[in-house]
Amino acid sequence: MLIRHILFIIFITIIYSPILRADTPRAQFSDQPHILIIHSYHLQFPWTRLLNDKLLSNFEALLPGEQIHIEFMDERRYSDNPQIRAELLRLYDLKYAEQPPDVVMVSDDAALNLVLTADLPWLKNAPLVFLGINVPEGHDLSRHPQHTGVLEGMAIEENIGFIRTLLPATREILLIADRSGLGALMGNEARQLIRNQRFHDIKLSVYDDFTFAELEQRLAALPADSAVLFLAIHNDRNGDYFSYAKHLPVLSAKTPVPIFGMWGDLMMGQGSIGGMMHNASSQAEMAAQMVRKILSGVPAADIPVLPKTRFTPQLDERQRLRFNIPLSNLPSGTELHFRPQSFLATHAVLISVSLSIIALLSLIILVLSLNIRRRQHAEQQWQSLRLTLEQRVSQRTNTLNRQNQQLTELSQQLALQANTDILTGISNRRHGDEQLHKAMKNALQQKIPLSLALIDVDYFKRINDQFGHERGDQILIELADLLTKHIRPQDLLVRWGGEEFMLLLSNCTAEQATALCERLRQQARSIRVSGDNTLSISIGISSSTNADNTAQLLHQADKNLYAAKAGGRNRVICDSD
Ligand code: GH3
Ligand code: MG
Ligand code: MG
Repeated sequence: MLIRHILFIIFITIIYSPILRADTPRAQFSDQPHILIIHSYHLQFPWTRLLNDKLLSNFEALLPGEQIHIEFMDERRYSDNPQIRAELLRLYDLKYAEQPPDVVMVSDDAALNLVLTADLPWLKNAPLVFLGINVPEGHDLSRHPQHTGVLEGMAIEENIGFIRTLLPATREILLIADRSGLGALMGNEARQLIRNQRFHDIKLSVYDDFTFAELEQRLAALPADSAVLFLAIHNDRNGDYFSYAKHLPVLSAKTPVPIFGMWGDLMMGQGSIGGMMHNASSQAEMAAQMVRKILSGVPAADIPVLPKTRFTPQLDERQRLRFNIPLSNLPSGTELHFRPQSFLATHAVLISVSLSIIALLSLIILVLSLNIRRRQHAEQQWQSLRLTLEQRVSQRTNTLNRQNQQLTELSQQLALQANTDILTGISNRRHGDEQLHKAMKNALQQKIPLSLALIDVDYFKRINDQFGHERGDQILIELADLLTKHIRPQDLLVRWGGEEFMLLLSNCTAEQATALCERLRQQARSIRVSGDNTLSISIGISSSTNADNTAQLLHQADKNLYAAKAGGRNRVICDSD
């Protein structure tokens, strides 16, 4: 039971421990340096916004954003309110007393005044860096020895001088301020100038008690040879807030004279012609440098206060043209804003993009056309190569055809020569023997009659002996011609050997063969050997009807030839005889 109770207590302790921790009064900051920036005005006020942006971009390079604390007093909207100031100090004390900032920065007079008059030890001891201070005399800096900063100052005299340089005919300048805060301080400064008669040949007057409607009327009624110089306005007599962005363009449009001023960031581009002006950026840069030095260990008191920020001549070109101010009147180094831009400058991005696209397209076209030309060239080369090859192939083919034809002719000639008897020009025995076998096979298969005749010259030896071998040859030639003339086209005459011939008679019966050979025998008688002596031949005939093969056929014919010789020669003998 006791163990259960103990476990329950441990459980409850764990569950509620974050709540217990949340009772701790303050969050714990890191050990890295802290910077507290107190702005006199609010963030939407362009001057404060620019200043703040510039300071942040500087410090965020040094520290995490959480180490930078920023407070806005909102003095432009709630100016000179001691109750608000007291409450703000109470709040700051609550927030920062436990862990004081390592550097306190203040922008503009109200914040500096707050810090100097506060009776808070942590604030007194913190190194102090100020900027945007227009009236240093209004602050007792001896109350805070560890200080440095940038005195913005004011440029009332410089601006009066600037107006007279630009518009030498100006007879009157109306200086505008309000009666609270900075406006009152600057108004007093201007009255001091007037009392001292610094500009005795020109009428200067301070106008600091008005409603916005009255201000509008006053500016609208100004004579043409006058000018307006804005000092500082926070509120009108009714306590209505003065916005440079809202009111200045209206005032500029209503008044016939130029409105000068010294707050570049607030007035330039809002209808003011310009003036000896300064900007937030350069002041913030200078003050940030001082903070860096302090964080690196240099005591604030050792860093000299910059006595006055730079006021440089600035002019709105559109207003310069409106008031016909010649360029020759401008002091050297005058910065001209809002100059009408040339077509080239206005459309620089568009032009450069277009030119880039054109250049890119041209490059693509160039590459493509080069590619096309290269392809065309390659195609031409390929065509000519193809033609050359085709010509060569055709030449080679012609040559081969010619050679082929020659070879065919040659082989035909050779075949002819191989089958021809040299002396008589008729088929030789080799060819005759081949044809005999084919014819015999055909005759047996087709069952058509084939006849074979062996023809032998009678007593040829004698002819040779009596008339010479050449005459013998001559007679053999004459006989071959004669026999060829008297046989059928399908019949084949062969020189079988010496003075012996074979006659192959396809599709010819023994009777038909006998009749033919008889005619041949008689025709041979027409060949004259010498004188009355004529040639005689003996013929033996055989038929396929009586033979089973060529050997039998030849043998039968030879037997019949032998019989013809034996029978007295000059005769024809057939199987049937
Ligand atoms: P038979 O009547 O018995 O046939 O008597 P033959 O003299 O004709 O026959 P034989 O066989 O005794 O003689 C044939 C001769 O033919 C012998 C040979 O010199 C001759 N002879 C063979 N071939 C040729 C040739 O090509 N030219 C010439 N001029 N004579 C040849
Ligand atoms: Mg013989
Ligand atoms: Mg013979």
